Amino acid sequence: MTTSADKINLLGLTRQEMEQFFDSLGEKRFRAGQAMKWIHHFGVDHFDAMTDFGKVLRAKLKACAEIRGPEVVSEDISSDGTRKWVVRVASGSCVETVYIPQGKRGTLCVSSQAGCALDCSFCSTGKQGFNSNLTAAEVIGQVWIANKSFGSIPATVDRAITNVVMMGMGEPLLNFDNVIAAMHLMMDDFGYGISKRRVTLSTSGVVPMIDELAKHIDVSLALSLHAPNDALRNELVPINKKYPLAMLLESCQRYMSALGEKRVLTIEYTLLKDVNDRPEHAEQMIELLRNVPCKVNLIPFNPFPHSGYERPSNNAIRRFQDALHHAGFNVTVRTTRGEDIDAACGQLVGQVMDRTRRSERYIAVRQLEAGAEALSANVSRP
Ligand code: SAH
Ligand code: SF4
Repeated sequence: MTTSADKINLLGLTRQEMEQFFDSLGEKRFRAGQAMKWIHHFGVDHFDAMTDFGKVLRAKLKACAEIRGPEVVSEDISSDGTRKWVVRVASGSCVETVYIPQGKRGTLCVSSQAGCALDCSFCSTGKQGFNSNLTAAEVIGQVWIANKSFGSIPATVDRAITNVVMMGMGEPLLNFDNVIAAMHLMMDDFGYGISKRRVTLSTSGVVPMIDELAKHIDVSLALSLHAPNDALRNELVPINKKYPLAMLLESCQRYMSALGEKRVLTIEYTLLKDVNDRPEHAEQMIELLRNVPCKVNLIPFNPFPHSGYERPSNNAIRRFQDALHHAGFNVTVRTTRGEDIDAACGQLVGQVMDRTRRSERYIAVRQLEAGAEALSANVSRP
């Protein structure tokens, strides 16, 4: 009997790859579109449901292929309609996917890696270290699972998922091929038919891969800036030491101009109390972005245990927003959604099998520090 490991998983195949697959079976290429519709439009996971395929073809497919998404460990629905799925990927780690409804818009926030190697100082995913890259099937599988949970959605019906953002766990540009394949499927009419403007890749700034991206795809781009000068950004986003701000902004502008249309870069800026939320930071940011066509999305820090950071006051957030606004920037503040199910940006934890055991070391260090603090508090008590 054929085991799952020997079978090709059709879930992650782009249209071109699917056509090649049917070619290799000696079948007509148009079968690829039919199979994709069953899989992505109707959420089918077995070949017997593909009623426009004859018995012989279905048997052929069963022998060599499968449709397998990541395993759903849990699905939570927040009082504000936000949904969060925890899914287990092949490496054994769990990653998270979040759906955020907002009026007519429904945004799905998708993970690209279990953990992340880039270690941004305020990000709980970064604190866990890197475990594994998701396969293309695991990346698109998150869209597949979410889409299925809303029922099958024919093209004529309003879609529940109107936007996808690669802003879940991991750095998407460090899992390049799989993320590109999955994003092609998000946009393909036989996939999820989402417009290129509504698929957004967010990066902390892997410069060579931003340049590479333009050769493969034309999705929207978001840059996680978080600091308006190199000294501070080196601390918050360590990859900045390798690819500093001037180089980074140039590569983002090259990407945007390669799109050749009126589309603007999104700048994400997580506001950390007394770290990057001061008026001088707003002034520096205005100067830095003076000639960069962009819109700015401020993300008030979402706390997690032992982060060492705090969310700024509402006044400080408004002051920062106003400063940018008065300088002519289009600036929004991201509202926290799904708080009751821990679905906010930067709170996605999953359960990363930590190869480096860094999170355990991290927790151990924090416990030691907490012990030392308690000790010194006791000592100083009169
Ligand atoms: N790795 C990519 C995409 C995932 S993170 C990137 O860094 O862009 C999505 C966004 O959430 C990023 O802008 C990230 O910096 C931000 N973020 C991470 N931790 C956060 C936290 N605790 N509070 C608020 N935003 C956070
Ligand atoms: Fe990785 Fe993004 Fe978190 Fe930085 S903010 S550690 S790049 S997931």
